Amino acid sequence: MIKKRVFIAINLVVSLRWLFLLFKVPKKSIILKLLNAIILVIIFTTSQVAFSQSSQTIKAEVPDTNSVGPEGDDELDPINVISTTNEYFKIIKDNNFDVPASDQYFFWDTLDIHPYQSKMNKYTETRIITLIDSNSVFAMPINNKPINSTFGWRKWKYHYGIDLGLNTGDSIVSAFDGMVRVVRKSKSYGNVVVIRNNNGLETLYAHLSKALVKANQEIKAGELIALGGNTGHSTGPHLHFEIRYLGGPINPSDIIDFNNFTLISDTLLIDRCRFEYLDDVQKARYYTVRKGDSLGRIAQRNGTSISRLCKLNGITRKSTLRIGRRLRYT
Ligand SMILES: [Zn+2]
Repeated sequence: MIKKRVFIAINLVVSLRWLFLLFKVPKKSIILKLLNAIILVIIFTTSQVAFSQSSQTIKAEVPDTNSVGPEGDDELDPINVISTTNEYFKIIKDNNFDVPASDQYFFWDTLDIHPYQSKMNKYTETRIITLIDSNSVFAMPINNKPINSTFGWRKWKYHYGIDLGLNTGDSIVSAFDGMVRVVRKSKSYGNVVVIRNNNGLETLYAHLSKALVKANQEIKAGELIALGGNTGHSTGPHLHFEIRYLGGPINPSDIIDFNNFTLISDTLLIDRCRFEYLDDVQKARYYTVRKGDSLGRIAQRNGTSISRLCKLNGITRKSTLRIGRRLRYT
């Protein structure tokens, strides 16, 4: 692409030069003038060819960015590429296709894991979600497995899910009834499945060795959706499990009793209080370690103390500061 652009630019410069010469050549030299005109036409034509080829390349690149799937073979159907409210309702109408909780969410995105921009710590509504009733049940995504890491601050970063230990290849089932929204590979989550549940919550299952479902597939609670693994940013086989509402992460331990593998309550109250922790997350500030930095210097520069830096980042005064590493200072 860049090479073609350079080629076009050179051709344009040369064309202008020949155009200039065409008018500068003395009136009598008709042959020279004719020769100039021919060269000008040749340069102009080659520029046109290069330009049309580069335009085709741009067009050809677009479908590639949309076909993100575990094997990269997702077909580009219109339901897969919904970005605005109007398009969403038009496609639902045209395809006689409905998605779970369409009264609460304004779009259905099968490519973006986190498409919602909602700041849930500013949420003004109060909603009671029915998790289980006579029509719907709950299933533990994976049974009898220990919690490796809980929801909340994990050193300098917030951990928006819960980690459940497993062996690679263990079965993972859907917690609730719903429809698969995303099946893809991400740098941090590895192989990941996101399900929009009929109750309005979205559940996310990450670091999978294999996803066994496809986007837009209807799912029942307890149905096999994937095999556990160690893909993405993961230091050992485990399931990273998230529960979100309108994009806002909710502590799974507020909903599930992980000791008894049951729900804590049949219903869930959703209001601003459930996302208050995001005030704290948004206040966090980070400093990137540079050459020659020491904890003392970083603390002084950012108006904090060495002990607070150590506490916030889970390090000691003797820890090595790797250049480029991010340190939370507030
Ligand atoms: Zn995790």
